[in-house]
Amino acid sequence: MERCPDCGSSDTIKYGKNNKGVQKYRCKDCGRQFVEHEVEVCQMLGDLYDQFPDKAKLIAVVASRTMVSVFLVRYIYEHYCS
Ligand SMILES: [Zn+2]
Repeated sequence: MERCPDCGSSDTIKYGKNNKGVQKYRCKDCGRQFVEHEVEVCQMLGDLYDQFPDKAKLIAVVASRTMVSVFLVRYIYEHYCS
């Protein structure tokens, strides 16, 4: 089960898919909504940001290391990571 990016709780439920087909979750403890792989992708984007200033390259590297699709990495990059 996916963990909440805010409070770390694993008490989360699937919360439908958005119009791009991305699985969403909702944290039952704090109410935060998030998408699959958001935590690991955002963390790795942050870790590698300085090494790969080119956005397309950064997304490709993160996708290969997390085994997440390039589409989803780009989507999370543009909509979720702060
Ligand atoms: Zn939470």
